[in-house]
This record gives sequence, C-alpha cells and structure tokens, in this order.
Amino acid sequence: MAAIDLADIDPTELDTRIWNEELADFVPDRVFDVHTHIYRWAFDLDPNKVTGPFADNIGRFFPEVTWELADQVDATLMPGRQMERLAFPFPFPHPCDFDGSNDYLAREVAKGRNSAGLMLVHPGMGAGEIEATLRRTGHIGFKPYRFYSTTGDAVQCRITDFMPEHQIAIADRYGLIILMHISKRDAIADRENIDDIKWLSAKYPRAKWILAHCARSYSAWAIEQAAAEIRDLPNVWYDTSTVCESDALDALYTGVGIDRVMYGSDDMIGPMRGKYVAFGKAWSYLSPTNHAMSLAHCDPRMTYIRYEQLRAMKRGARQIGLSNAQREALFYGTARALVDSVSPFA
Ligand SMILES: [Zn+2]
Repeated sequence: MAAIDLADIDPTELDTRIWNEELADFVPDRVFDVHTHIYRWAFDLDPNKVTGPFADNIGRFFPEVTWELADQVDATLMPGRQMERLAFPFPFPHPCDFDGSNDYLAREVAKGRNSAGLMLVHPGMGAGEIEATLRRTGHIGFKPYRFYSTTGDAVQCRITDFMPEHQIAIADRYGLIILMHISKRDAIADRENIDDIKWLSAKYPRAKWILAHCARSYSAWAIEQAAAEIRDLPNVWYDTSTVCESDALDALYTGVGIDRVMYGSDDMIGPMRGKYVAFGKAWSYLSPTNHAMSLAHCDPRMTYIRYEQLRAMKRGARQIGLSNAQREALFYGTARALVDSVSPFA
C-alpha cells in the first residue's frame, strides 16, 4: 500500500460527496475560526525533535503554517466561505522559541482580515515580558499549554500549574482572552478543574476564557458531569475544535448553552483524514494508518477530521433544534463579539 500523505488535502470523490450531501447547507457564508495554529516547525528547538512525537505529523506534513496555507485549507474544505480567525502558535515542548513563535504569528495575522492572535506563554514569564510582547505583537490574549506545567506533569496538572495567577491577573486587568486546553485524565469532569475554573473566573471577572475542544470533552460524559456547575459562568466560552462525536456536541449545547459555543478548527488537524473516536473514558485519533479494521464490506476511505467534526456539530444540534440565527452565531457572531470585546493593547 502506498504511504498516505496527510498533507494531500485535495478532496477525493468521497470528501466531495460528504460536503455536498451533509455539510454544505450547514456551514454559513461567514465563519470565524477561534482555534488555528500558525507556526513553523523550526520553533521547536528540541535537538532530538526528528525522533520526537511531532516528527511524524507536524514535522512531516505541515512544517510551516502560513496564513495563506490556512486560507488554502479552508477554501478547499469549505469552499466559498469568508474566513476570519483567532490564531496562536503551536505549543512545542521546551525548548520552544516563544519570541519567534509570537512574532511570526503577528506577521501572519496581519495578512488576514478582521483576525487576531494569542501569545504563547509559559509560567516563567513575568508581567514585564508579557506586556512588552503584547505591545510589540498586538496579540489579544494568551495561549498557555500543559506541556509547560511547573509540576513537570503534563497529564495531571491543574490550570494554575501552567497558567499562573499572575498571568491571569494580566488578562483580567486588560480584559484579554485565555485559550485553555485543560489537562487531567477526566478533563472537565475532574473535581479540581471544575473548582479551578469556577474560582478563577470569579476572582478575575474580566479575563475571558475559551475552553478548547468542548472543554476537552471528546465524548459526552465529561461535559455532562460538569455542565450544571459551569454553565452560568459569564466569562467562559467553548470551542468545538476536533471533537467528532455528536453526543459530545449535544451535551455541550444543552449543558452550557449554544450561545457560549464557537466553531474552531485546530488546523492543521482539520485537513488530516481520520476521526477522533471515543470509547470508555478514552479518546484518540483514528487515522488511515493506525488501525487494523477489516473494511472490505464498505467504502474504506476516511474523510477529513474537519468533516467528521462538522457532522458532529450538525447532528449534535438536533435536540436543541438549532435556528438559523443560532447557527450563524455558532460559526461567526459569538466569536466576532468576543474578539471585538477586547481592546487593543496599548
Ligand atoms: Zn489546538
């Protein structure tokens, strides 16, 4: 079998069929993507990166993500849509070129219309360095990541282990956005995560949180458990990036309210083929090359992760009876209003 090139984004006849039959009437003309990674593989300064976990995906297929590439992917997968974005660097593990990442992002975001960037941060950055970077780049918030946890544990760390309070206080002071990919095996169902997002959002009311990947609920159970406690937090939003199970979207829409949910792509994940699948209390990326399923009885091809996510966003909305106005807000208006609520840093 020929090696699969995940960077080959040209639609197959299967992709085109899924778009035309299932998705073209769901995705509105204007789309705001709140979760796009813009980066260079060169910003990963790990001397052993060629044998590391990103060599076989990012390093091999998407080593340089420009604004033009993001536009090209969207024009291919969602033809004719007018795109705006909230973008941020890729959080390569230490050592990572943070300044290079944030400055590159600023140059790329400037090519887009009505788009904005978030600064990649690690807990060691003090207020002076952060404010200088915000001033230099024009970024409107922060992208922390669990790889940078001060505990050294990227799996079970708490929010403040990688987004310390002194940085949240900066977001609060200037009304900035924090794009939060929460950690821990139970994700948003974890007691400490629920407690942390409740007290942090209350203590710092002007910081605006986006909990990525449906609060990292790739299946329904995690957000089902947490929703009653976090649904009325006025400064917390959610993005749908790479969640491909419709029951997770249903639980999010019904649990926290559709007016808090925004489309995100997590590109360059979206154009890769496969699906994030959930089972038990687990979830993982199923790709054309990492399974041994017998598929002779059906069309064995996989479509873009993006299309699996859009299918889930559409079918997960059946229970709430998504109106056209809600659909436009989900894909555009809610994100536009959130980004517009942040004043440029000066
Ligand atoms: Zn991401």
